[in-house]
Amino acid sequence: MFAITILGNNSATPTELRNPTAQVLQWQDESYLIDCGEGTQKQMVLYKIKRSKISRVFISHLHGDHYFGLIGLITSLGLQGRIQPLYIHAPAALEAIIQLQLEVANVQLPYPLHFCPLQHEGPIVEDNKIMVSAFKVRHRIECWGFLFRQKKHPRKILPEAARLHHIPAAFYEKLQQGLDYTAKDGVVVANAAVTTEAPVAKSYAYCADTIFDESLAQKVKGVSLLYHEATYLHDLADKAASRYHSTTVQAATIARLAGVDRLIIGHFSAKYDELDAFLEEAMAVFKPTELALEGVCYLT
Ligand SMILES: [Zn+2]
Ligand SMILES: [Zn+2]
Repeated sequence: MFAITILGNNSATPTELRNPTAQVLQWQDESYLIDCGEGTQKQMVLYKIKRSKISRVFISHLHGDHYFGLIGLITSLGLQGRIQPLYIHAPAALEAIIQLQLEVANVQLPYPLHFCPLQHEGPIVEDNKIMVSAFKVRHRIECWGFLFRQKKHPRKILPEAARLHHIPAAFYEKLQQGLDYTAKDGVVVANAAVTTEAPVAKSYAYCADTIFDESLAQKVKGVSLLYHEATYLHDLADKAASRYHSTTVQAATIARLAGVDRLIIGHFSAKYDELDAFLEEAMAVFKPTELALEGVCYLT
């Protein structure tokens, strides 16, 4: 299961009730921060997200509403005495920006800060539990989306049933892979008789600032939860295109084309006080849509 908590759902500037983009993805013992707009630390404190638990930060692009909170967070972690490393996955230019800020303030961080520049589409983090991939989206400057995919779990062995059928432990790994067991006398034990289905591997795709681009649907095909920006209501489709942003209907169209299970929309323009119309317009195209609301945790 992934748990995604929205910390900021606004575009460009903070308003009285909404903050620039930031989200935290948590599962098992891991916490990843996705974008880090101004005010992210305050939001983490407010919504009880432990800053010290963040192991990786993913920055989609270098418009300020997606990273102006980062130097504050990096510095606070140092003040807290962090020793474990922090990994920053971001466009290459970010490293020089952060290093300059640390240098002029004469900050010596007590923990290793690793910059991992985004260069190619494809996997950027992989272990036996998760694969994170980066993919390009079309915006005014270099901009990346991120796909978080749990590794497929092995089937679960029913030990009683396996013993009853005299299956040797040496074959257990193959059982987990779904193979049937054939005994020496030729009797076949069907895999389903001695194992159960593993929980479905979940996936979360984050499409940061982007113009409407149908090719995105292919990149996020079939994910269990998709976040897609919807900066404007659809009557401002021309304005959205000229600024390399998307509308409600466009975000929902990508979700429908990609055949995802659920969609959340965010990055709302500061010009809107009310968000109800965003939900109505998107749901007319793709019903399982929700608004990305600050402080709300979305599970998948
Ligand atoms: Zn933005
Ligand atoms: Zn932007």
